This record gives sequence, structure tokens and C-alpha cells, in this order.
Amino acid sequence: KLLFTSEIGIKTVILKANMDSLSSGQGIQVVTPSEDHTFLLDEDALQRLLLREDVRDRPVVLVSVAGAYRKGKSFLLDFFLRYLDRTYNNGEGGGEWLGREDEALKGFSWRGGSDRHTTGIHLWSQPFKASLSNGQKVVVLLMDTQGTFDSNSTVKDNATVFALSTMLSSVQIYNLSQNIEEDDLQHLQLFMEYGRVAKDEIGGKPFQRLQFLVRDWSYPYDHPYGAVGGEQLLKKRLTVRDGQHEELQRVRQDIARCFEDVTCFLMPYPGSKVSTDPHFSGKLSDIDGEFKSCLKQLVPMLLAPENLVTKKIGGQTVKARDLLNYFKSYVEVFNS
Ligand code: GDP
Ligand code: MG
Repeated sequence: KLLFTSEIGIKTVILKANMDSLSSGQGIQVVTPSEDHTFLLDEDALQRLLLREDVRDRPVVLVSVAGAYRKGKSFLLDFFLRYLDRTYNNGEGGGEWLGREDEALKGFSWRGGSDRHTTGIHLWSQPFKASLSNGQKVVVLLMDTQGTFDSNSTVKDNATVFALSTMLSSVQIYNLSQNIEEDDLQHLQLFMEYGRVAKDEIGGKPFQRLQFLVRDWSYPYDHPYGAVGGEQLLKKRLTVRDGQHEELQRVRQDIARCFEDVTCFLMPYPGSKVSTDPHFSGKLSDIDGEFKSCLKQLVPMLLAPENLVTKKIGGQTVKARDLLNYFKSYVEVFNS
């Protein structure tokens, strides 16, 4: 037993010593669906992350990416990691965060990882300590969700992962391929039922920010890449019109009722190396220029100090240690 304790002590020391290096971090699976469609919570892993002395009392900024499998979610998150690392760990900030042209992309495993069929919720093992523009100290956490809406998981599992990640995050990025379709909005409806329950309890909007992210947008002449085109498309898609099917109207009203802020960003196609080359390593030199310039716009819009959104539940700011309890009680709700 003693040996065990000291081993943990040593590991903690090593972990802290390596804090600066992204390569010492990893995605840790904290929520795993089981055969009987209940969800398993890795409480120990969560405790190690959320109860760390230097982060437990900080308000949480939790950025999640959700959506169909193999649409570049993890790939995108690795650029988030790069930004967070350079901005908050190394105090560099500014424009150079995207990295060197020949640098391979590290972080959450994308493309071929052996866990690629695992539905569930992963958190990056390293919390990022940041300060908002008003000086408030916060902790930024990144969440990757796997397999949402793919054919290997049941509809209920998918809706649960989506619901859990939305309820726990302060920013939910809804990653979509090519366009915002009616189907994509219907998927949102599946879990917003939970949002409605939460709303009845507290009388405010239950969720903070919903960011639609359209990948491989191919109509830049209709709506330009980036946030401006995104707003145009979103307005078109979310407007409630007379004569629209009642159910469609309801999805739109629910989105407006559930989220404090809804935005959309249109990403260009990243190029054939990224989308089809099996040997692509994530090097910037293999990514189209237009995609890179959009990344430079998008990532700070989500993660720069002035744009960080802290998590609120029931009108209260959620601290890292509180988040542990919310994980527990939400998973319990979905399991019962
Ligand atoms: P995830 O399952 O959604 O996490 O997808 P991954 O991040 O693992 O990426 C799946 C594949 O899509 C990889 O081969 C990436 O190189 C590629 N990819 C990443 N971003 C994009 C994009 O914006 N468009 C296209 N067409 N492919 C992408
Ligand atoms: Mg992934």
C-alpha cells in the first residue's frame, strides 16, 4: 500500500515537471458507454484533473467539440491545444501560435487512433491556467467526444453523449460537414429536452455558447468563409418562418431559448493531403493556406482571454471541483 502511495507521489511530481510540454499530455476517457447502454464514469481520472490543488478553486471554461465521426473534430482540437499551450503556458500570445510549417500535429489522436470507434467523452489531461481580461483566474479544459451519430452506436447513446457534453461545457462546438442541414438541427432537438428541464428549474438560459462549425464549406461566393459568412448562413437556417413545419419551428425556438449565444463559422476545405493522404502527419506545409488563415481567425475567437466563457449552472459559476459533482450527477441521471 505504501509503495502504491509513493508511486503516485512520484508520478505527480513528474506530471508537474512536464507541465509545459504538450507531448506529456493525453486524451483521457472519462465517460464510456457500456454494453447495456449505461455510462461509466472514471471518477479517479476526473479527480486527478479537477481536484488538483492549483486548479480546483478556479472557474471552469470547458470547450467541447461534438458531431459525426471522422469529420476532423480531434484534428481541430489539436490546434486548440497548440494555441492554449503557446498562449497560456509559454506566455507568447500574438500571431505565431500556429507553429512551424514542418511541425507534426500532436494531441488528441485523430484519424487512425485505435480508440476511434469508442463513443464517449475524453478530456485533455492538462488543464490550462488562464486569466480573463478582467483579471479573473480560470482554468480551460478541452473535451473531445467520439463517435456521435456514427452507425456503430445507437441513437440513444449518441444523444446522451451529445447531451452530457453540452450540459457540462460552456462552449459546445457543433462540428458539421459541408452545410447546416435540417437533420443536424433535429439532432440538437434530441437533447434539448434536457435543456428544457434545466430551464424550468432555474429560469435562465441553461447553456452558454453554441458554435456551429461547418467544415469543407464550398459556397464562399454565397457566404464567405469565416464568421461573417457563418452569421449569414445561420440567420438563414435559424429564422422561424410562417408556414414552416411546426417541429422545425420548435427546434429553432428551442435553440434560441437554450443558449445565451449562438454563432457559426464556415471553414474551407483543408486540401487533399489532409482529407485523403494516409501519411499526412498534420504538418502546416501540407494544409491549404485558406484553411490556415481561417484557423487563425477561429481559434482566438474561442480561446483568447477576452473570449473565454466560464461555465454556469443555475446562474452560478462552476469551479473545477464543482464540475466533478456535475459529472457524477448528470451521468447518474442518464443512467437511471
Ligand atoms: P473525428 O473523428 O471527427 O475526430 O475526425 P479526425 O480529427 O480524426 O479526422 C478524420 C480525418 O479527416 C483525418 O484524416 C483528417 O486528416 C481529416 N480532416 C481533418 N479536418 C478536415 C476537414 O476540415 N475537412 C476534411 N475533408 N477532412 C478533414
Ligand atoms: Mg476524434
